[in-house]
Amino acid sequence: MLCISQKNSEDSCKVFTCKKNRLQTKKFAVVPFSKRVVFVPHCMRNVAVCAAVEKNSCYVCVECGGCKISEISKLVKELNYQALYVVKGGRAIQHIIKEQVPKAIVGIACFFEGAQAFKMLEKENVAVQFVALTKDGCVDTDANLIEVAKVLEI
Ligand code: SF4
Repeated sequence: MLCISQKNSEDSCKVFTCKKNRLQTKKFAVVPFSKRVVFVPHCMRNVAVCAAVEKNSCYVCVECGGCKISEISKLVKELNYQALYVVKGGRAIQHIIKEQVPKAIVGIACFFEGAQAFKMLEKENVAVQFVALTKDGCVDTDANLIEVAKVLEI
Protein backbone atom coordinates (compact mmCIF):
# COMPACT_ATOMS: atom_id res chain seq x y z
CA MET A 1 0.00 0.00 0.00
CA LEU A 2 1.26 3.51 -0.83
CA CYS A 3 1.69 6.08 1.97
CA ILE A 4 0.13 9.54 1.41
CA SER A 5 3.39 11.22 0.32
CA GLN A 6 4.15 8.37 -2.13
CA LYS A 7 0.61 8.67 -3.49
CA ASN A 8 0.98 12.45 -3.93
CA SER A 9 4.29 11.98 -5.66
CA GLU A 10 2.84 9.34 -8.00
CA ASP A 11 -0.13 11.61 -8.75
CA SER A 12 2.12 14.55 -9.61
CA CYS A 13 4.29 12.34 -11.86
CA LYS A 14 1.10 11.13 -13.54
CA VAL A 15 -0.10 14.68 -14.24
CA PHE A 16 3.38 15.73 -15.41
CA THR A 17 3.86 12.79 -17.81
CA CYS A 18 0.32 13.13 -19.27
CA LYS A 19 0.94 16.81 -19.93
CA LYS A 20 4.34 16.11 -21.54
CA ASN A 21 2.83 13.38 -23.70
CA ARG A 22 0.14 15.74 -24.94
CA LEU A 23 2.64 18.49 -25.70
CA GLN A 24 4.90 16.20 -27.71
CA THR A 25 2.37 14.10 -29.63
CA LYS A 26 2.39 16.22 -32.79
CA LYS A 27 6.18 16.40 -32.91
CA PHE A 28 6.34 12.64 -32.35
CA ALA A 29 3.75 11.85 -35.04
CA VAL A 30 5.77 13.38 -37.88
CA VAL A 31 8.91 11.35 -37.15
CA PRO A 32 9.21 8.31 -39.46
CA PHE A 33 9.15 4.94 -37.68
CA SER A 34 12.70 4.28 -38.87
CA LYS A 35 13.96 7.22 -36.77
CA ARG A 36 12.26 6.09 -33.54
CA VAL A 37 13.55 3.85 -30.76
CA VAL A 38 11.69 2.11 -27.94
CA PHE A 39 12.91 1.73 -24.38
CA VAL A 40 11.44 -1.08 -22.31
CA PRO A 41 12.41 -1.62 -18.67
CA HIS A 42 14.26 -4.85 -17.87
CA CYS A 43 11.86 -5.48 -14.96
CA MET A 44 9.23 -6.53 -17.53
CA ARG A 45 11.29 -9.63 -18.38
CA ASN A 46 10.20 -13.00 -17.07
CA VAL A 47 13.50 -13.77 -15.38
CA ALA A 48 12.54 -17.41 -14.80
CA VAL A 49 12.66 -18.14 -18.52
CA CYS A 50 14.29 -15.09 -20.12
CA ALA A 51 16.77 -16.00 -22.84
CA ALA A 52 17.75 -12.40 -23.60
CA VAL A 53 21.41 -11.73 -24.18
CA GLU A 54 23.05 -9.18 -21.91
CA LYS A 55 24.81 -6.47 -23.87
CA ASN A 56 26.38 -3.47 -22.11
CA SER A 57 23.57 -1.85 -20.12
CA CYS A 58 20.77 -3.58 -22.06
CA TYR A 59 19.29 -6.98 -22.77
CA VAL A 60 18.71 -8.12 -26.35
CA CYS A 61 15.30 -9.83 -26.37
CA VAL A 62 15.25 -13.02 -28.46
CA GLU A 63 11.43 -13.14 -28.46
CA CYS A 64 11.20 -16.35 -26.47
CA GLY A 65 7.55 -15.56 -25.66
CA GLY A 66 8.16 -15.57 -21.92
CA CYS A 67 6.91 -12.01 -21.46
CA LYS A 68 5.14 -9.19 -23.32
CA ILE A 69 8.43 -7.74 -24.56
CA SER A 70 8.26 -10.47 -27.20
CA GLU A 71 5.06 -8.98 -28.69
CA ILE A 72 6.39 -5.44 -28.43
CA SER A 73 9.61 -6.47 -30.18
CA LYS A 74 7.66 -8.12 -33.03
CA LEU A 75 5.49 -5.03 -33.54
CA VAL A 76 8.52 -2.74 -33.46
CA LYS A 77 10.10 -4.83 -36.24
CA GLU A 78 6.87 -4.94 -38.27
CA LEU A 79 6.62 -1.16 -38.13
CA ASN A 80 10.29 -0.85 -39.03
CA TYR A 81 11.33 1.07 -35.93
CA GLN A 82 15.03 1.91 -35.60
CA ALA A 83 15.46 -0.32 -32.54
CA LEU A 84 14.09 -1.62 -29.26
CA TYR A 85 16.22 -1.59 -26.13
CA VAL A 86 15.47 -3.49 -22.94
CA VAL A 87 17.30 -1.13 -20.63
CA LYS A 88 18.72 -1.58 -17.16
CA GLY A 89 18.37 2.11 -16.23
CA GLY A 90 18.39 5.79 -17.16
CA ARG A 91 22.11 5.95 -17.92
CA ALA A 92 21.68 3.42 -20.70
CA ILE A 93 19.09 5.70 -22.29
CA GLN A 94 21.45 8.69 -22.33
CA HIS A 95 24.23 6.59 -23.83
CA ILE A 96 21.99 5.13 -26.58
CA ILE A 97 20.61 8.56 -27.52
CA LYS A 98 24.13 9.89 -27.93
CA GLU A 99 25.16 6.92 -30.06
CA GLN A 100 22.04 6.28 -32.16
CA VAL A 101 20.64 9.85 -32.37
CA PRO A 102 16.95 8.86 -32.71
CA LYS A 103 14.43 11.59 -33.55
CA ALA A 104 11.71 10.09 -31.37
CA ILE A 105 11.41 7.78 -28.39
CA VAL A 106 8.68 5.60 -26.92
CA GLY A 107 9.45 4.86 -23.29
CA ILE A 108 7.65 2.33 -21.12
CA ALA A 109 8.17 2.86 -17.40
CA CYS A 110 6.53 3.63 -14.07
CA PHE A 111 5.26 7.20 -13.64
CA PHE A 112 8.27 8.22 -11.54
CA GLU A 113 10.82 6.96 -14.08
CA GLY A 114 8.75 8.44 -16.90
CA ALA A 115 8.81 11.87 -15.27
CA GLN A 116 12.57 11.58 -14.67
CA ALA A 117 13.13 10.62 -18.32
CA PHE A 118 11.11 13.60 -19.62
CA LYS A 119 13.24 15.90 -17.45
CA MET A 120 16.48 14.21 -18.53
CA LEU A 121 15.55 14.54 -22.22
CA GLU A 122 14.35 18.14 -22.10
CA LYS A 123 17.49 19.48 -23.79
CA GLU A 124 17.67 16.74 -26.42
CA ASN A 125 16.11 17.29 -29.83
CA VAL A 126 13.89 14.25 -29.54
CA ALA A 127 10.11 13.76 -29.32
CA VAL A 128 9.04 11.51 -26.48
CA GLN A 129 5.90 9.48 -25.82
CA PHE A 130 5.55 7.68 -22.52
CA VAL A 131 3.49 4.57 -21.73
CA ALA A 132 2.93 3.86 -18.04
CA LEU A 133 3.40 0.39 -16.64
CA THR A 134 0.13 -1.11 -15.41
CA LYS A 135 2.03 -2.92 -12.66
CA ASP A 136 5.24 -1.37 -11.40
CA GLY A 137 7.90 -2.46 -8.93
CA CYS A 138 11.36 -3.93 -9.45
CA VAL A 139 10.35 -7.31 -10.91
CA ASP A 140 7.50 -8.83 -12.90
CA THR A 141 6.19 -5.48 -14.07
CA ASP A 142 3.53 -5.26 -16.73
CA ALA A 143 2.19 -3.01 -19.47
CA ASN A 144 -0.98 -2.92 -21.54
CA LEU A 145 -0.10 -4.15 -25.04
CA ILE A 146 -3.04 -2.32 -26.61
CA GLU A 147 -1.83 0.96 -25.11
CA VAL A 148 1.74 0.26 -26.20
CA ALA A 149 0.63 -0.55 -29.78
CA LYS A 150 -1.54 2.57 -29.89
CA VAL A 151 1.44 4.78 -29.07
CA LEU A 152 3.88 2.93 -31.33
CA GLU A 153 1.50 3.42 -34.27
CA ILE A 154 0.92 7.17 -33.77
S1 SF4 B 1 10.37 -12.32 -24.50
FE1 SF4 B 1 12.47 -11.43 -24.51
S2 SF4 B 1 12.65 -10.24 -22.65
FE2 SF4 B 1 10.81 -11.55 -22.42
S3 SF4 B 1 11.52 -13.32 -21.33
FE3 SF4 B 1 11.75 -13.80 -23.54
S4 SF4 B 1 13.82 -13.16 -24.18
FE4 SF4 B 1 13.36 -12.27 -22.13
